[in-house]
Amino acid sequence: MSDTSSQAKTVLVTGSSRGLGKAIAAEFAQRGHTVAVHYVRSAEPAEALVADIQHAGGSAQAFQADVADASACARLVKDVQKAFGGLDIVVNNAGITKDGLTLRMKEDAWQDVINTNLSSAFFISKAALRPMMSAKWGRIVNIASVVGLTGNPGQANYVAAKAGLIGLTKTLAKEYATKNITVNAVAPGFIVSDMTDALDDSLRESYLAQIPMGRFGVAKDVANAVAFLASDAAAYITGQTLTVDGGLVM
Ligand code: NAP
Repeated sequence: MSDTSSQAKTVLVTGSSRGLGKAIAAEFAQRGHTVAVHYVRSAEPAEALVADIQHAGGSAQAFQADVADASACARLVKDVQKAFGGLDIVVNNAGITKDGLTLRMKEDAWQDVINTNLSSAFFISKAALRPMMSAKWGRIVNIASVVGLTGNPGQANYVAAKAGLIGLTKTLAKEYATKNITVNAVAPGFIVSDMTDALDDSLRESYLAQIPMGRFGVAKDVANAVAFLASDAAAYITGQTLTVDGGLVM
């Protein structure tokens, strides 16, 4: 099925070997776009997703890079551009957590999370802005988190990275608005994942009680929001953070 609101584009989704990134990559492929599936360690799942997309008649290729490394980010964007002949849409999704209360958080836990979740988005976006400016069209969607809006005990590194992503989103949006490049963030709440599956029943119930819609989200809820912000239908939306959280934060 192709996306009736946009022509076929080339898309890079960082961290799309599994989790939300995988669902986002699959959504773009289903809408008829050519997708760069990206991973750092999970080569097999990334290649399996590429095979699934190709089997369904779509177009995709897998790319490896450690996005915590600035030069690897630049190389990744170059490789995707070379393989696809351009780069129209970037979804900065790759992320990690290394939780702990501030007094116990080691310096490397702080730095690893900032590098992987925040600096990566700066370096990838910086490299991708050139082809987008040449094409006079571009979309950047940064995957933040509701905790970047609210704060969360035990996640100083992660929350700082996600709040930073929201600030980066607004600044890039202002800098490139006249170039027909929009930059937005999606802030997921509780999404069904290995993490939510592992919660014990009482913790699960206490989380659910905070969500007005009374359910956890699914990856497809996030993928739909990202695909919308990357489409021509969202041409006049930039610098925004769209929460996808069943009403948790409003
Ligand atoms: P996940 O299942 O743990 O997947 C993380 C992805 O990021 C994987 O593809 C992983 O690649 C990649 N990655 C990790 N470190 C990397 C590095 N140094 N270089 C390149 N790629 C790297 O994560 P998720 O739960 O889907 O989360 C995806 C994004 O959504 C994250 O930014 C997260 O903060 C955000 N988010 C998630 C939730 C949720 O409920 N799940 C809620 C709010 C926000 P490999 O497979 O190769 O390791």
